Amino acid sequence: MRNEEMLLIPGPTPVVDSIYDAMASETRGHTDPRFVEIYKRSIERTREMFKTDGEVFVIAGSGTIGMEMALVNTVGAGERLLVISHGYFGDRFIQLGKAFGIEIDVLQAEWGQQVAPEEVERQLSERTYKAVTITHADTSTGVAADLDALVPIVKKHGALVILDGVCATAAMEEDMSKEYGGEGYTIDVVLTGSQKAIGVPPGLAIVAFNQTALAARKELGHIPAYYCDIENWIPIMHDPSKYFATPPVNLIYAYDEGMKLVLEEGLEKRYARHTAYGRGVRSALREYGMKPLAEEEVAASTLSCFLYPEGVNDAEFRAALAGVGLIVAGALAHLGGKAFRLGHMGNTTEDMLISAIEKIGEALKDVGQDVSIEQAVNRFKEETASIVQ
Ligand SMILES: *Cc1c(COP(=O)(O)O)cnc(C)c1O
Repeated sequence: MRNEEMLLIPGPTPVVDSIYDAMASETRGHTDPRFVEIYKRSIERTREMFKTDGEVFVIAGSGTIGMEMALVNTVGAGERLLVISHGYFGDRFIQLGKAFGIEIDVLQAEWGQQVAPEEVERQLSERTYKAVTITHADTSTGVAADLDALVPIVKKHGALVILDGVCATAAMEEDMSKEYGGEGYTIDVVLTGSQKAIGVPPGLAIVAFNQTALAARKELGHIPAYYCDIENWIPIMHDPSKYFATPPVNLIYAYDEGMKLVLEEGLEKRYARHTAYGRGVRSALREYGMKPLAEEEVAASTLSCFLYPEGVNDAEFRAALAGVGLIVAGALAHLGGKAFRLGHMGNTTEDMLISAIEKIGEALKDVGQDVSIEQAVNRFKEETASIVQ
């Protein structure tokens, strides 16, 4: 890998050489058949990943454009949205909804915890909602949503399920053909970005709508959007030689290669690999006296947020790691200075994570912590021994 540093933040994530190579291919016109063929294939690969009978959209933008696209095409001004929030990114739907005049109620968990399914049940029994947003893995806390518990509750009450998969897609199961305990109890919209668990540089929003969500768009008629109106994109996704807005040609090359790698590895294997990574990294860092913010039962496979033991200075610690080529992220909001976040997703390998565990151990030793790097690495190896290569 030509990377000089290990970028283990919750996105962007490590990019492999074949993706860089694809990205550096010659820029062609967006209607050039040679490009159109690649764009088409990347759309088909996206469809295969989500297993959807609806429409997928691969467009320039970040994950936030995907959030906006998901919301503005399904929920109209004055309609009601329930936000289930496990942190900073869950809360982002509140700001988004407000910008479009959507009526919002919020169920917020304490950071590090999940919203209880009973609370969701109660809220949905009391009021009718057009849609409910769920953040699959909240990047601020490392908490995963329990889709098996939440999706059936939301669908039973007739609302649309909008899933923010920005830090989960391609690493945690998001199968749009899966029925969660009832006929038609499926995820309706999934949105994601290119730079997290898919492992492609930032710059693409990827969104999938099932037939129910597409019907919701139709019912809305006029919506307060232009670039984000899926009606403008459906013809392009069916025939990428048509023009609506210029696609980011080189990013599409990169994304197509990234999706090839995702499907070649296989989704089931990827899910298992990420589960093992999450368990392994948390188990290893617990050995160092670092407490994961999320308990194991609710923890995401893709990233973890660790509280520092007494006596570790956040800025100094992260600078020390950066000095040895390991980039980790600070914590957000009230956890700033008290915790750090480590991404373990996408193209990240076991060797990289072992090296990260070693570097973190060294940095802790340097500030006088009494830690055993060997034991921590062994914990990681125990948890990841089951990974099938
Ligand atoms: C990163 C992230 C976003 C925002 O994506 P951008 O690409 O930064 O716009 C939204 N939701 C979740 C869960 C994320 O992790």
